[in-house]
Amino acid sequence: MSEAEREERLEDIEYWWSGGFQGAFAAESRAEFLEAKLYEVVKRVLLAMPEEDFEVFLLLRPQIVCQPLAVHGAIWRYAIPVMPGMKEAIVRVVYFTPAFGKWSADRLTRLVAHEFAHLVLGHDSPHVTGHGDIHAEEATDRKSESWGFRAAYSRKERQELADHHRQDKAGRSRTRTRGPRRA
Ligand SMILES: [Zn+2]
Repeated sequence: MSEAEREERLEDIEYWWSGGFQGAFAAESRAEFLEAKLYEVVKRVLLAMPEEDFEVFLLLRPQIVCQPLAVHGAIWRYAIPVMPGMKEAIVRVVYFTPAFGKWSADRLTRLVAHEFAHLVLGHDSPHVTGHGDIHAEEATDRKSESWGFRAAYSRKERQELADHHRQDKAGRSRTRTRGPRRA
């Protein structure tokens, strides 16, 4: 990226960030400057994306909310009721746990890159770290790796997800065979 392109992207990022929900960082305390810490990492991740991924991200205009109930990171998609005849409006919110105030910058970067990769890949909500579909999670980690970041899941965590996935599938097929026969 040239210096001019970098400047332009930073302007886009700043504009997007300044339109964030009021109170999104209400969990911030005197000891922990959550917004400043997250914003630095967010800029790092967004500057690392190729143009096409960044364009997708900007079009989605996700809102960022930092709140204590978030499981590390989660994406939710809300349909806003609109006037009859209008298309529905969608707001995507990425939640982050305020616990990241105590995390290393590296750990936070991996999480942000992972959540943003879900958005860019168009994975619809809800997406909660640690509870995703194994294929979506794999694709998401590959995407964030393509931007130069380490995967959010360790090999062990990936194995656990794969095991859950197999059990889920086995559970679903059992339910099917036990269920009522279709006429
Ligand atoms: Zn995920």
